[in-house]
Amino acid sequence: ALVHAIAVLIIACPCALGLATPAAIMVGTGAGARMGVLIRNAEALERIGAITAVLFDKTGTLTTGHVTVVRVTAVAGTARERVLALASSLEIRSEHPLAQAIVRAAEADGLSLPSATSFKALTGVGVSGIVDGVDVHVGRPVGEHTLLVLPDDLRAQVAADMQDGRTVVLVHAGGGAIGAIALADTIKTGSAHAVRALADLHVRSVMLTGDHPEAARPIARQAGIAEVYAGLLPEGKVERIKALQAQGEKVAMVGDGINDAPALAVADVGVAMGTGTDVAMETADLTIVKGDLAGVVRAIHLSRRTIRTIRQNLFWAFLYNVLGIPLAAFGLLDPMIAAAAMAFSSVSVLTNALRLRRAVRDERAPTTH
Ligand code: ADP
Ligand code: MG
Repeated sequence: ALVHAIAVLIIACPCALGLATPAAIMVGTGAGARMGVLIRNAEALERIGAITAVLFDKTGTLTTGHVTVVRVTAVAGTARERVLALASSLEIRSEHPLAQAIVRAAEADGLSLPSATSFKALTGVGVSGIVDGVDVHVGRPVGEHTLLVLPDDLRAQVAADMQDGRTVVLVHAGGGAIGAIALADTIKTGSAHAVRALADLHVRSVMLTGDHPEAARPIARQAGIAEVYAGLLPEGKVERIKALQAQGEKVAMVGDGINDAPALAVADVGVAMGTGTDVAMETADLTIVKGDLAGVVRAIHLSRRTIRTIRQNLFWAFLYNVLGIPLAAFGLLDPMIAAAAMAFSSVSVLTNALRLRRAVRDERAPTTH
């Protein structure tokens, strides 16, 4: 009876059961890191596989964020250089891709930048401050800085640039518009591929952007995204996500900017671009190191594989105990064999978890050609 009791105790040891989940999570997270996807925790790894909609920010997420200034327009009586110099004096303090482009353009023209005081960044809107003793504001046409009050010639040029799909920011000084800067951005090579891969997984792709609709549309078309919400403030992005969640969608938000941080926080899974701002990465559950959108698709595959591995592990771990305990109780299992079986069950669970590492090889393959 003592020997039978010992055999029962040995075979009932639930080490494989205890290992089943953490081993798979650890291997899965490590595999993610090797394919350039940093996963914050086990919940994030689990949730990304169950999402039904991916919302993409435009600038810096679907597009490269290597923006270039294509035109600087000034109102009559103002030099183009002054428009660019005043704007750059403020933008040099901003981390936004548009800001960096404007500063690069000023540097390329060899302009000297007057220093700014009272700098303020208005997330998703623009920047303002005092330069050369005048109030300067650089940003999207919205609210008091609407297009409607622009002088005719400037408004016509802005409208034409917007029609061409450019992002346009207005430069105001001393209360009135003094000019506008049109910027162009290019789509990332992998964006359309990622959207197609998501569609194959029956995941809906949506674009959320703070830019105006004319600039959003051509990028959306090239990416193959039909659903576009443009002109959104950061809170607008949050509302969109909540609206989708109310429809029962499980939402992943992919973004890079400070303006995306609130949206990353409310989404079921927040995904930040490693090429973006620190705030976005700190808020997000996942970070795609090089900003390659295929990372979203890989993370979904990895998550589903990891969950499958956990299920298999739990099944085998349970099976050992369920079969082993009655056998041992009826004296049909020698304690030595019970010990070997228990060790083997742990080994098999770990080996199964390690198979997840193959996910990296499988996932890397398609992007190399
Ligand atoms: P997206 O959602 O496409 O990443 P943002 O929300 O960051 O865009 O910005 C929305 C709009 O606000 C921009 O298209 C631009 O007009 C304006 N904007 C935001 N930040 C700045 C800035 N630093 N300088 C000028 N304009 C800005
Ligand atoms: Mg952005």
